[in-house]
Amino acid sequence: MTSAFDKLLKILALEKSQDCRNRAVVGGLAKFLEIWRDEATSESATAEQKAAVVEICFLLENYTALDHGNRARVVDSVLAKLRELEGQLQAVRQETAAPPPKKQPGPSPADQPTDARLDAPIDTLKGISRIYARRLTRLGAHTIRDLLYLFPRRYDDFSALKRINELRYGEQVTIAGVIWETSNRSTQRGQTITQTILSDGTGTIQATWFNQPFLEKQLEAGRKIVISGRVDEFLGRLTFSSPEWEPLQKELLHTGRLVPIYPLTEGLKPRWLRRLMKSAVDEWAGKLVDPLPTSMRLNLNLMDLVTSVRQMHFPDNGEMLERARRRLCFEEFLLIQLGVLRQRHEWLQQPGQPLGVDEQLVKGVVSALPFALTNAQQRSLQEILHDLQKNSAMSRLLQGDVGSGKTVVALIAMLVAIANGKQAAVMAPTEILAEQHYRTITKMLAEIAARAADVPETQTRLRDLVGHTVVRLLTGSVPRAEKEAIWSEAATGKANLVIGTHALIQEGGSFHDLALSVIDEQHRFGVNQRMALRQKAYNPHVLVMSATPIPRTLALTIYGDLDISVLDELPPHRQVVITRWLDPAERERAYAFVRSQIEKKRQAFIICPLIEESEKSEAKAAVSEYERLKDEVFPGLRLALLHGRMKGAQKEGTMAAFQRGEYDILVSTAVVEVGIDVPNATLMLVEGANRFGLAQLHQFRGRVGRGPHQSYCLLLADSPTEGGEQRLKIIENTQDGFVLAEEDLKMRGPGEFFGTRQSGLPNLKVAKLSDVKILEQARQEAAKLFEHDPLLQEAEHCLLARKVELFWQPKGDLS
Ligand code: ADP
Ligand code: MG
Repeated sequence: MTSAFDKLLKILALEKSQDCRNRAVVGGLAKFLEIWRDEATSESATAEQKAAVVEICFLLENYTALDHGNRARVVDSVLAKLRELEGQLQAVRQETAAPPPKKQPGPSPADQPTDARLDAPIDTLKGISRIYARRLTRLGAHTIRDLLYLFPRRYDDFSALKRINELRYGEQVTIAGVIWETSNRSTQRGQTITQTILSDGTGTIQATWFNQPFLEKQLEAGRKIVISGRVDEFLGRLTFSSPEWEPLQKELLHTGRLVPIYPLTEGLKPRWLRRLMKSAVDEWAGKLVDPLPTSMRLNLNLMDLVTSVRQMHFPDNGEMLERARRRLCFEEFLLIQLGVLRQRHEWLQQPGQPLGVDEQLVKGVVSALPFALTNAQQRSLQEILHDLQKNSAMSRLLQGDVGSGKTVVALIAMLVAIANGKQAAVMAPTEILAEQHYRTITKMLAEIAARAADVPETQTRLRDLVGHTVVRLLTGSVPRAEKEAIWSEAATGKANLVIGTHALIQEGGSFHDLALSVIDEQHRFGVNQRMALRQKAYNPHVLVMSATPIPRTLALTIYGDLDISVLDELPPHRQVVITRWLDPAERERAYAFVRSQIEKKRQAFIICPLIEESEKSEAKAAVSEYERLKDEVFPGLRLALLHGRMKGAQKEGTMAAFQRGEYDILVSTAVVEVGIDVPNATLMLVEGANRFGLAQLHQFRGRVGRGPHQSYCLLLADSPTEGGEQRLKIIENTQDGFVLAEEDLKMRGPGEFFGTRQSGLPNLKVAKLSDVKILEQARQEAAKLFEHDPLLQEAEHCLLARKVELFWQPKGDLS
């Protein structure tokens, strides 16, 4: 956009954010407009722009005289007009700047989609030493491009510039003024306090900083500075305590705006990182190339990539930030969706292994079970059996809350494969879960065999089937010789129901005739595992089991390559876990309750609060919480600790020992999946419960109530929170994971539904799975695109194709 229009847009955005008090420009808008009118028309303006100038001036002419409501209305309509102009202009620019590739000699955009220098390591940037580069790496920034995509975690809104005589206690504000005087003084404890008196003509205010004696020189009298922070009170007078500050200059970075707050790691200071980001964004963001086709962007009114990245870091205002976020979020969802559609497309192209289903035999198995299947189980089973008979491989998600009975359904499907003379495999995310499946499945098979006689019609066939089923457990801790023996049985087809971890797929061994693979992925989206499986070229039917309650739209996106069956019904007579939401003041009572359960020989889980910064600080916090609990709260009891920095084997060892009853209390961070069945555990205590979403609290709760004893879930908030009460009611009153997940999405708004940290999805930088509207939009666009250009071969789509490729590249170990 021409600079005049751009300028007005910024001013009006500011005016709007300042509540239309006609303060965005000195002297008021009307006055500014007189000069602006000339500026906007004298530049090589198009006829359309000239017309727009007339219209805008007409709208804003008597702004000063308008009341608040009318001002807001006028500002909105001018902003809309300006954005419309911006859109048209960009479209024209893009078309003229990028002629169709076939006419252009040299490399096509597909070969050179972006400036290659963006992929240079960050230590090639000015002012970044090796050491700092390494620290930034910890935040995931390896290249300059990564750095541009290292977005703030949140923003402090210091955009409202206030006068000193308007300040009120407790407000987050920004003021600008002249320093009257600054002095250092020492306290009795040897600290240095720097005190500054600042004036802005309407009054004076004092600001203090601690232990930064050098500030005395920097904050010299006469200097103009800007201060942002919370208004504090000391001895009845308003003050600022350790506010952010910076010299008054044209472009404010740390104050007077929406200030970006970046994730930090040891050795990185907020101000340093913010300055680095500013220069990186100024210099490099402009080199990013937008992969979204222009027509799509304009149709959906999406901001261009360069502006979006700039606005994400240093937003002009809340509205621009929201637009930037929306655009980036859309792109991520689109990439997910395109990848998923492509996968499904490829999958369906390969011939599968249709299986015969002996309906009577299946009925026999079902009636030999010690319980009747729920309606949901029956329905899902029918869907699965239908898929197994098709020519293309099944890829189906079996979704159901903890305890909804997924394993039985999967087992029946596996028996069908075995009845066809083929093999089935179960993959679990951890050894301990694999062992659990092994126990459950062998037990169920024994039960079926024992009751076969009750089903006269199929009695013999049923006995044969079970007798012919050879179950083997293959995990990392199986001794080598035994492992080899199992693999050779798998290769001949003798072992026809093999249970293991994901290593089952990665190891070198092979199956004789693998027809069905069941993947139990708990909370993870095992896209990569599914791909690995396909690469083994068996192209088996795949059944993914997930206990994460995901609302349908979401599931359709994340698992868009799968068909979905839902177990939305629990078997009858499930015990209800009694849930209580407690105030911090009731912590002692909660501990007393833990002790009383342990006196009854039960066991308890304690989940540590969620810490956002890093796995390392989380582990550190967990260690100290564990020590406190062990030494001060529960001396004499046996406590164990689980956190994300422990080695896999170490974690599993601890969980197994807890399962065997060798510990009374298992203290764990939230990131560790305590995906184990401990029927003797009756108490789940979640610290900092207010920081978790409902869906996650429900997952924690699902860890207890698995045995015959009444179980409890105590949710301890770490501060009395608003919204807590509402959430309390919901979680106390519903045991249905899907209902909770929906509520979670509704209530948490911008909050995360799942941490992407544990999701195993491609790394989402911006999109939150709760952005359901954008997600739906991206789904529709992807479907349209896919329909007429599935391989993304058209010139307009080649950048997008490359992005999809990069986005879905497996990054590191996800399993
Ligand atoms: P999930 O894997 O979905 O968490 P499981 O398959 O492990 O659930 O089942 C949990 C428990 O419920 C198991 O002990 C299983 O035998 C039992 N179960 C499964 N289906 C039924 C049913 N229809 N009626 C009663 N009990 C059932
Ligand atoms: Mg299970």
